[in-house]
Amino acid sequence: MWQSKAACLNEDSSLFLTGVTSRVMKAKAICATCAVIDECLGFALANEDTEPHVYGGLTGDERAPLIAEMREVALADAENAL
Ligand code: SF4
Repeated sequence: MWQSKAACLNEDSSLFLTGVTSRVMKAKAICATCAVIDECLGFALANEDTEPHVYGGLTGDERAPLIAEMREVALADAENAL
């Protein structure tokens, strides 16, 4: 599992809760060193996770527009397939 390679594995998970800018910056700095950042972000996006938590180097608010864009693309693909 990709999670076993996470740079945050031994970090305090509360560090990744958003709301405090300095905390988010620290969390993002850890994500930037993470070997599985793509997998983590992909997992969060696939699960449409906009919770106030840093995943894949992005906050929930930052993931939300990406998720909305993915929905639009999926809808357009479905319409084109008809
Ligand atoms: S990208 Fe960030 S939140 Fe995701 S596994 Fe890596 S360190 Fe943890």
